[in-house]
Amino acid sequence: MTWYKSASEFKEQNGYTIDDVWYPRVTAIVSIKAKPALYAFYASMPNFKAAEAMKNKSADEGTLIHDTIEAILKNEKVEIPENIKPAISAFLDFRSRNDIDVHKVEERILSKKHGYSGTMDVLAEVNGHLGVLDIKTSMAIYRDYNMQTSAYVEALVENADIPPLSRWILRIDQNKKCVRCGASLRSKGGRDKIRGDKYPCEHEWSEMRGEYEFKELPNFDHDIKAFLACKTLWEWEHDYWLRHV
Ligand SMILES: [Zn+2]
Repeated sequence: MTWYKSASEFKEQNGYTIDDVWYPRVTAIVSIKAKPALYAFYASMPNFKAAEAMKNKSADEGTLIHDTIEAILKNEKVEIPENIKPAISAFLDFRSRNDIDVHKVEERILSKKHGYSGTMDVLAEVNGHLGVLDIKTSMAIYRDYNMQTSAYVEALVENADIPPLSRWILRIDQNKKCVRCGASLRSKGGRDKIRGDKYPCEHEWSEMRGEYEFKELPNFDHDIKAFLACKTLWEWEHDYWLRHV
């Protein structure tokens, strides 16, 4: 639970002001949902400060990958930093294997009906279907993304006469694979993390290489219901500040 010094700090960290009206952000709202994997991560670190530092460094690397991909989608000239080249080449591989027509990148969305705002990564036609594409640099595709993307679609549909939209997650990552046992090693955040080592092995790591995972999220009605329930819970939790904004 984050503590806020003032209503303006609360507003700044949790939402956007659009036409003089403040709206909470989609990502702030979904953050109310508990994340058990995060507790396991904190418990595995020597102390809270070390865990925070690693989480932030890992987030910086993720942001760099994310921003570079968005710049490429916007056809901007971009220098690709050496440390994320494998991840970016995985993205370019994804792009070359699919028919992608980008409509919007980093677009502010707003639902006046439900009272929330947010920033959508990409609106695009992918292989002939129009939809919202969210770019993630996480280790896996988590179910929380279902709620986030359903909120973007709901807001887009509210504001424009458009057909039902698809929702996709494009997960981009880079890691080394053990050539003996298939385990993978990520070194995001400056700490090595090995996954999938099922039996004892003197790992022999490959070069760092990128990978992508592209997944469609099918159950919009189910997901938007969960998002709006999350919003109710978020408002309950922040009742004090919401009375002051
Ligand atoms: Zn191995």
